[in-house]
Parts: sequence; structure tokens; C-alpha cells
Amino acid sequence: MDTETFLSTSYTRIRASASVPPGTSVPTLPHPSLLSAARTSFPSILPTQGQGPTSTLTHLTRDIAPALAGHNLSGRYYGFVTGSTLPIAEAADNLVSAFDNSAQVHLPGQSISTEVEDVALRMLIEFLKLGKAEEWAGRTFTTGATASNVLGLACGREGVITARLREIPGKEEDGGSVGELGLIRACAEAGVKEIQVLTSMGHSSLYKAASVVGLGRASVKDLPVSPLEPWRLDLDAVEEELQREGVASIVVVSAGEVNTGRFATRGLEDMERLRELADRYGAWIHVDGAFGIFARSLPETEEFAQLRESAAGLELADSITVDGHKLLNVPYDTGIFFTRHSSIPPAVFQNPNAVYLSSSSTSTIPSPLNIGLENSRRFRALPVYAVLLSEGREGLATMLARMTQLAQGVADALLSNLKEDYELLPETASVPHTHIVVLFRARDPGLNAVLVQKIQDSGEWYVSGTKWKGEPACRIAVASWRVNVQEDLAFVKERLTNIAKEWKESR
Ligand SMILES: *Cc1c(COP(=O)(O)O)cnc(C)c1O
Repeated sequence: MDTETFLSTSYTRIRASASVPPGTSVPTLPHPSLLSAARTSFPSILPTQGQGPTSTLTHLTRDIAPALAGHNLSGRYYGFVTGSTLPIAEAADNLVSAFDNSAQVHLPGQSISTEVEDVALRMLIEFLKLGKAEEWAGRTFTTGATASNVLGLACGREGVITARLREIPGKEEDGGSVGELGLIRACAEAGVKEIQVLTSMGHSSLYKAASVVGLGRASVKDLPVSPLEPWRLDLDAVEEELQREGVASIVVVSAGEVNTGRFATRGLEDMERLRELADRYGAWIHVDGAFGIFARSLPETEEFAQLRESAAGLELADSITVDGHKLLNVPYDTGIFFTRHSSIPPAVFQNPNAVYLSSSSTSTIPSPLNIGLENSRRFRALPVYAVLLSEGREGLATMLARMTQLAQGVADALLSNLKEDYELLPETASVPHTHIVVLFRARDPGLNAVLVQKIQDSGEWYVSGTKWKGEPACRIAVASWRVNVQEDLAFVKERLTNIAKEWKESR
């Protein structure tokens, strides 16, 4: 099959299976019997003689596929922040597998893959309104926001320690680096006894990243402005921490926070102050913008003004985490990492002395293997490139608007019609501050204890359970291109009304 036929049949097939007739409900979870059936279908040992592709395909479609979660097929899966996959992204991803190019070394005479990556990254910088692509010369694709946070802390660590090594008399030109000397020796030479990560309600992956890059989970310090707004970073406390003698700091801005969707900074002024502090005390600012950063790209209308303001100023960071497989609706596993400091990623991630892996000396695009974690890796950029090209700025902004409108509609209902039975959280929540996450609980503690399970068991929709101030809470995260604001809002309102009604009747 030629490539054109391959791609167009792939797209047509995906598009056909993607268009679910209105009113049809796609199961969000596999029925328990399908999970058991899949389990009993596994071979107990590796077959000596393979069963061949035909029989294997039958097994995959008959036993395995029905036992997978339906979050990509149902527009009403509001768990975690899973995202979904636009048909054009899935088609592009099939092409990625078909050609199996590794975007590892920039070899302009051999594959266009690294150039496509660069074009996609440049367009993303534009879409997220981060400024000029040249200002974010350190940029690459990762496996997700966790990996991007690892890159962020690794680069932050390199940035803050290298700067101090250069302050040593006689070492202004080259005082070494963490990448070269290792963390312990570099810190000893720089007179740094501790590296701390200052944040407010940092994502769990931040603690993991701190462990991976040798800072330790205990290095992460939570500095909330108040119990009422625990997601907001206390900038006075940050200023105090930055002045500690012999301590280097990385400030991580949660944008947005995963339980509430709220932002650690209130907008440009907060970010300007943070930038000024970081510059004065030699700290690094990393923004974990996995999904929240997309608030910057919402349509320029009044209904999203508060969100655009909350996400303003994030471009003042030293590095930024973006997730592709969440709101951008490309398949797993796709994350993006940006830093202004183009020399720092190679200082950490260079794959030295592998001459056979070098690209031409005149190339302007750095080889991905020197700026990220992997050597060989998937050509992850193609689905992102395809989505940006297919939808364009306006199409994507409209998709993000639909997600936000549904979340805001649910928040609005929880504050009005559903108010008697449910409580919108956190206490200070409001419709204009609602991005794609809605946190709430049932007022009746008995119902609240089983609410998430009731919703999940319905198989019609899915929400995540979480805790807010020690109590169980329910969390809706809208992240699929399939969102139909009117229909889905009516659906959620109706289901929540019925759940409360049935609960009261059963008492
Ligand atoms: C989802 C998320 C992460 C982790 O992202 P993965 O893509 O699952 O690795 C990190 N930070 C925030 C704020 C997130 O929402």
C-alpha cells in the first residue's frame, strides 16, 4: 500500500470509529466480565511455536481490546487528566510506527524527522504565546510531563550550581558543571550545602523528579500562601527561603494545580516579582504547566479573561513543562520541554564521545539525544505537528474553549441548581477561575463516601476520586476533543440530580 492510501484509509477508519452517533453512550470502563475473560485468555507460558499473526490479531481484538478503558472513545471520561486522541493525531501516529524513524540524531540528508520536530516545537511556542522561538532554543519532546519535570529539575540544578561555580575566582570562564563533576563534587566546590525546590501543591511527579535527579523528595518545600488558597505560592516566603546561606533554589510554579486547576501565581505581576527574586538570588524558575498552560491559548473572549490572566507571565520562567497527551489530544506518550538556556540541556544530557552519532557540524538543529533523556526514541513530534496543522490556532482554541465551557458549566450548576446536594470546592472556587478541572463533593457524607464509585460503576461516565482537606472529593477533568458542551452539560447535571434524588429516596 502506498503511503497516501495507508494514511487516508487509516484516517477514514479512525474518523468513522470516532464519530459516535448523538445519544449513544460509549462505555467508559470495560465490564468486569470482559476483564476476567481477558485474564483467562492469556497463555500461561511463552509459546514455543508462535500462533501466527492471524490468530494473534483475533486474540487482540476479541480478548484484549474489549478489556481496555474507553477514555479515548467516550467523551464522558473525566478521570485524571487523560486527554484523548484526535483522529488526525492517531493517523499520524500510525505513520510514525509504519516508518519507525528514531528522532535521535539530526541527519538532514537522511530523514526529515528532526526538522518536523523543530517546526512543531516552534509552532507550539507560538500557540502557547511564549514569545519568539529563538528565546526557547532549548526545546525537545519527552514522554510526558513527569519526564519534562525531570528535565526541568535537572536543568535547574545545572543552572543554579554552574552559576555559582563561575563565581569562584579564576573559574569565570569554566568552573565545570554538575553534568561533568557530579552533584556532590559540584556542590562542594560551589559551597552549596543544599538544593531546595520551592513550590505550592506541586504535582506528585515533582517529588519523583526530585528523587531521580538526586535532590531528594525531602528537598521539595510546600510554601502555600494560606490554607484557603493552598495552590498559591507565598512569594514572601519564597524571598525568605532564597536568602538562606549556602542554599541554592529551584522554584516550581504549579500551573495549574492538579486537584483544583488553579494557578500558583495570579498573573503577570506575581511572575514579574518571582523573576526579579530569582535573578537577584540566583534561583531557577520552572513552570509545571502540563495542562494549565493551555489556558493561555483560549479564545480572547471575556468568558476566559480570568483564566488568561491567571496564566499570564509564565513565559518569564527558565523552563516549562507542557503535556501533549493531555489537552493537545495527541496519543501517549508525548510531553514537551522548553528552556531559555540552550547550553544547559547539552551540559546535562550530552551523549559524549559517540562519534558515530554526530550530525553535521553546520546543522542548526541540535540532535535530540543531546538534549533529552533517551538516545533512540519515537518520532513523537508527528502527531503534534499534524494536530497543529490540521486544527490551526483557531481550531485548537475552540477545542480548548469547549473543554473549559463544559467545566465552567458544571461549576456554575454546582453553585446554583445543584447547590442543595453538592458543594463546589475549594471554598473560594468560582466559574471564571474554572479551567478544565471541577472539584466537588456531595453534602451528605454518606453519599459523598460512595459518590465516585457510583459514577464509575455506571459505565456511562467517569470521574476521579481525590481528597480535599482530608475528606473524599470528586474531580471532573474535561480533556477530550469530543466534548459537546450542551449535551454533556445536560448529561452531567441530570446524572448528579438523579444520584442525589435516589440517595435521598433510599434513606
Ligand atoms: C499530569 C501531570 C503531570 C504528570 O504528567 P505525565 O504526563 O502523566 O507524566 C505533571 N504535572 C502536572 C501538573 C500534571 O497535570
